Amino acid sequence: MSKKKEIDDRFKKFGTKSFTSVTKVNDFIDNLENGKVMATRCKDCGIVFFPPRADCYKCLSSNVEWHEVSGEGKLVTYSKLKYAPVGFEDDLPYCIALLDYGDFKIFGRIASNVPEEEIELGMEMRTKANKLPNGQLNYVFEKA
Ligand SMILES: [Zn+2]
Repeated sequence: MSKKKEIDDRFKKFGTKSFTSVTKVNDFIDNLENGKVMATRCKDCGIVFFPPRADCYKCLSSNVEWHEVSGEGKLVTYSKLKYAPVGFEDDLPYCIALLDYGDFKIFGRIASNVPEEEIELGMEMRTKANKLPNGQLNYVFEKA
């Protein structure tokens, strides 16, 4: 007799190629489906984590709460990719970038509808939940 296992694999919906499952922070995907990009915040020391973490490495607390990534971040750096990791080739060319939200930074990609000539270091951008043509979810940076 085999016992049916319940596998929490919601992270499979994330990204062009699915991420490994990260069970403790799978609500991230439910939020993404609802258009929200979430970080986590340690209730004990206030540090914000993105990608979301279930445990605080600073004070070793597991007392974390969801924290919506909202408002604008500053573009710190970006890079146009001509070669992509396996599974991302069909998306080329695209720009990966780092946004600085003050308390935390987010690494991701710039939305394909942002013309490259309009991308400038220091510009204000927003992080937006995004649905890929194949039904997978991710988030992209758009002009604020
Ligand atoms: Zn902490």
